[in-house]
Amino acid sequence: MALTNFFEIRTKLPGSLARTGVLSTPHGLIHTPAFIVAGTKAAVKALTAAQVSQLGGQAILSNTYHLILQPGTELIQQAGGLAEFMGWHRPTFTDSGGFQIMSLPGVKITPDGATFRSHINGDQLTITPESSMQAQHQIGSDIHMAFDCPIGYGNAATAAKTTRQNAEQTLHLTHTWAERCLIEHERLNGDLPELVQSDVSEGGSPREKRDRPVATGAGDAVRGWTSSCKSCLYGVVQGGEYMDLRQQSATYFANQPFDGYGIGGMYMAEKSQKYLRAVNQILPETKPRHWLGMGAEPIDLFVGIELGIDTFDCVAPTRQARNGALYTHQGRINIQNAKYRTDFTPIDQDCDCYACQNFTKAYLAHLFRAKEILAPVLASIHNERFVVRTVDQIRASIESGTFHQFKTQFLNTYYQA
Ligand SMILES: [Zn+2]
Repeated sequence: MALTNFFEIRTKLPGSLARTGVLSTPHGLIHTPAFIVAGTKAAVKALTAAQVSQLGGQAILSNTYHLILQPGTELIQQAGGLAEFMGWHRPTFTDSGGFQIMSLPGVKITPDGATFRSHINGDQLTITPESSMQAQHQIGSDIHMAFDCPIGYGNAATAAKTTRQNAEQTLHLTHTWAERCLIEHERLNGDLPELVQSDVSEGGSPREKRDRPVATGAGDAVRGWTSSCKSCLYGVVQGGEYMDLRQQSATYFANQPFDGYGIGGMYMAEKSQKYLRAVNQILPETKPRHWLGMGAEPIDLFVGIELGIDTFDCVAPTRQARNGALYTHQGRINIQNAKYRTDFTPIDQDCDCYACQNFTKAYLAHLFRAKEILAPVLASIHNERFVVRTVDQIRASIESGTFHQFKTQFLNTYYQA
């Protein structure tokens, strides 16, 4: 059964699909719209959990495929689940890894599942909808994604060349796999979660513990006990760049009792606008929508939220940081550019992050040239804070009725319009 009150809408932006709301997860609340920080392999690249928390991150998204390969999902379960394993203790999402698996060379897809070789040691593995759900329950993420089959599998780089017939077949697989995921997820959620040590030491029955309030604020840590809500499952809408298939997929999922929806196979908001709008007009308004693997541009945040997206994930902020590409309110800069060697101003005058409050562009430029480990750390703190804060500001602007003014001002400055 779908959870009640998992998602509560707080404010709607008139004339658009944008809204603000709250997701109540076993590890705390997520105020939406929210940028979900990518922690693909149970680690946010270059950042500690404490740093992610300090920069305002509300939740982390990891990838089931990567965690199955390394360190193994049983080990994460033994550690008390993903949030505890990472020392994060707050909400987590897992993507199924369908996209990564279907992109592997030599992957074999059957109606039962996907067979492939590990990119780490060459072992042959098969993942089915059922085993993906079992893995995500072992990982213990708060929000799971159904195992999906993106259009263009086995050849993701040239998905545009996918035939109509292939697109229809893969979409059918995504839907039948999603139904199997739902059945397995409900079976696995049918039992009480495993007891954690503090439940035992504090006394009382597990059921009493589960009735305690979840949390009081965004991303509040709920360490050592579980809430009355169980983990949730999102169905993943696919359909590639076929409008009728996107609509067919959204209609299919709208009639299935998923707790929310992932939207896969879209990367650039401007190009994807018509699909996002069509899909979100069909999906039930009362359930949350997550844009899986969005693009890297700040404009995508505004466009996605206006078209009804509640949460996003994206690896770009830390990936770009590692290359010295830094967001500023005046647009993206590359700190390795020669002119920054003697620039003693912060990365961004209007940024409140630890890097901007304490260091200059000249120092960052030096760290990158000297290949110091601190370089990607400070750059990642800045980029993640920039994106997380921008989404927080968008949320506040929806609540205060100033979204359109904020969007115009932000984008005009960023893209120097
Ligand atoms: Zn900064």
